[in-house]
Amino acid sequence: MGYRFLNKTWSARVKDVEQLERKKSQEQPRKIQQVKACAYCKTHIPEDEGIYQDKQFFCSYQHLDSYLEHKK
Ligand SMILES: [Zn+2]
Repeated sequence: MGYRFLNKTWSARVKDVEQLERKKSQEQPRKIQQVKACAYCKTHIPEDEGIYQDKQFFCSYQHLDSYLEHKK
């Protein structure tokens, strides 16, 4: 019974969070996904899939490493 109670409380909480998130996204429209060019290979990839390092953008950690290696 205790488990059931907890379970119900938890799912109710999740619902609250979901509603809050929905409200937030209504107030603030989701940012349109930006496409950025990797500073090393110039490949354009979605911003949230890349890595930012010192205001530079990279498609992968390999290219971040390579770029820093070249700079030396
Ligand atoms: Zn790259």
